[in-house]
Amino acid sequence: MARRNEELSLLLENIAKLLALKSESPFRIRAYEEAARSISAMAEDIEDLHRAGRLTDIAGVGSSIGAKLGEYLDTGRSSYYEGLKREVSVEAADLLDVPSIGPARAKLVHERLGISTVAELERAAREHRLQGLPGFGEKLEDRIAREAARVAQRTGRMLLGMALPAAEEVVRLLRDRPAVLEINPAGSIRRMKETIGDIDLLVASNRPGEVMDAFTTLPIAREVLARGPTRSSILTRDNLQIDLRVIKPDEYGSALQYFTGSKDHNIALRQVAINRGWKLSEYGLFDAAGKRLAGRTEEEVYRALGMDWMPPELRESRGELEAALGHQLPDLVALKAVRGDLHVHSDWSDGYDPPERMVEAAIARGYQYLALTDHSRSLGVAGGLSIERVRQQRRLVDQLNQRYAPFRVLHGTEVDILPSGDLDYPDDVLAQFDLVAASVHSAFGQPRERMTERILRALRNPYVAVLSHPTGRLLLRRPEYEVDVEAVLQAAAQQGVALEVDGQPDRLDLNDLWARRARDVGVLLVCNSDAHSARQLELVRYAVATARRGWVEPRTVLNTLPIKRLLAHLSRRGRKRRAA
Ligand SMILES: [Zn+2]
Ligand SMILES: [Zn+2]
Repeated sequence: MARRNEELSLLLENIAKLLALKSESPFRIRAYEEAARSISAMAEDIEDLHRAGRLTDIAGVGSSIGAKLGEYLDTGRSSYYEGLKREVSVEAADLLDVPSIGPARAKLVHERLGISTVAELERAAREHRLQGLPGFGEKLEDRIAREAARVAQRTGRMLLGMALPAAEEVVRLLRDRPAVLEINPAGSIRRMKETIGDIDLLVASNRPGEVMDAFTTLPIAREVLARGPTRSSILTRDNLQIDLRVIKPDEYGSALQYFTGSKDHNIALRQVAINRGWKLSEYGLFDAAGKRLAGRTEEEVYRALGMDWMPPELRESRGELEAALGHQLPDLVALKAVRGDLHVHSDWSDGYDPPERMVEAAIARGYQYLALTDHSRSLGVAGGLSIERVRQQRRLVDQLNQRYAPFRVLHGTEVDILPSGDLDYPDDVLAQFDLVAASVHSAFGQPRERMTERILRALRNPYVAVLSHPTGRLLLRRPEYEVDVEAVLQAAAQQGVALEVDGQPDRLDLNDLWARRARDVGVLLVCNSDAHSARQLELVRYAVATARRGWVEPRTVLNTLPIKRLLAHLSRRGRKRRAA
C-alpha cells in the first residue's frame, strides 16, 4: 500500500479527534473516522485517484472530505485542519500525540489539571495525579507515562553538535549514489542553530524510489519509521529521527530555500515576492501569470528577487533581507580562516591527550599555532596546575616549540576568576604565560552586581587577554549566570580583551546574539574549541558557526591572525596595559 495513503488517513483521523475535542456531532466525527479507515485499507494509490479526479469513489468520501483531501495532496496542508487546531487550543491538541490519550481524556486532563503539554502530562502521570480522574486507573496512568516520555523525547530539542554529525553521516553515505543529484541538510541544522528540533534532509533526484530504498536500508538505520514514495523517516542507532524528502531537480533550489527557513525569514521573503506581484513557494518563484521565474537553485531564487544569496546562518529575519537587497551582506568568518586554537586542555589538567598529541592534531588541521590552556590551581576537580607544575609545563612547551618549529605552541592558562574577582595565580606567575584566558567556574549563584563586578575586575588585570565562555551557560542544562553582559562587552572593548565564542556544543558562549552585539561595539572575538582531547579540536566549527550567526567577519576574530600578528597583538596589548 502506498504510504501517502497512510498520511492522508492520519490527517482524517486527526480531524476526527479535534472534532471530538470540540464536542461536535458524533455523526460528523464518525464520517471522518470511516473515511480514514477506507483510505488506509484501499489498494489504490490515493495520488492516482486524485489525478483521475476520482477521490469521491473512495468509500465514505463525499465532496466535502474529498475537497479537503485534494487540498492536502496539492499543497501539503489542509486549511481546515489548521483552523481546527487553532480553534481547539493547540496545547490540548498536542496531547493527542500520546496514543492512549483520546480526545475525551485530553479534554479532561486539560480542564481538570490544566495540563497542556506532553511534558506536563508525563510529570502528572509519574506523580500519580491522573489516577484521581474518572476513568483513569493505575494501568492506564502507567501506559500514559511511558508513551508521554517517548513522545517528549521525540519532540525534544537536541544540541546542534549531536544533530549535525548524524545528518552529515547520512549525506556522506548517500551523496555518491547515482540517483542522488544533490543532498543537503535543511531546517535549523543548515542554519546552525544551537539546538535542533528535527533532522531534515533534502535530495534532488529524478528517481525517488531508488533514493528511498537507499535511505531506508542504510546500515545506521535501526528502524524505518515511515516510508513513502518521496518521503521517509528512519531512527538511527543513536535513536535520532532523520527525515528525508526527495525533490524534483527543477524545484530543488526553492525547496531547499523553503525548508531551510527560518519561518520568519520565509514570511519576509514571500512578502518581497508578493510586493512584485509574484508568488514564492517551495515549488518555485512564479509571476502573476503562473510562469516559473526561478527554482532550480537558491541563488536563482534570491537573484530573481533582487538579492544576493545569503548564507543560511543569516536567515533569521534579523536584517539579512535588507542587506541582501542592498548588496551589503557581511563577509562572514569561515572555518578555513581560523589559523589556530587559543583554548585547549591537555592531560596535565582535565584533558585526555598529552600536549604533544594536541600539537600534532593542530598541525594536522593546518594551524599555525595552538595555545595550551590548562586549568589553574584552585580548580581541583579539573586537575588545575600548581605554580610548580606551571613551570614544568613551560619547559615542556619550550621543547615542543623546538621540535615542531615553525609551528608555534603558546603557553597559556585558563585561569579561574575567583568569587572575589581575583585571579587564581598572582601577577608574577600570569606574566610568564604567552596567553592568559580567564573564566568563571565557581559561585555561579552570585547576584548580578557581584558577578558583573567580579568579571570586570578580572578584565582590568593587565595580563588577561581573553575572557572564556563569558556567560557560563550550559545549553539544555543551565542558563547564563546573572551578569550584565552589556557592561562586560563595553569593558572588554575598552580594555582590549577578546571575548570567546566557545565551540563546545553545550556552551556556544557567547551566543549568536551576543557575538553580534560584540561585533557592533568593536570587541575582538576569538573562536575556540575548548577541546579536551585531540579529536575535539574540530569543535571550533561550532564556534565559527555561532559567530557567523552573529554576522561576525574575520577581521574581528583574533585567531584568524597569522602568528606574527597575533604575537604582536598580545605583546602590544600587554605593554600598553601594563604601562597604563
Ligand atoms: Zn572553562
Ligand atoms: Zn576550558
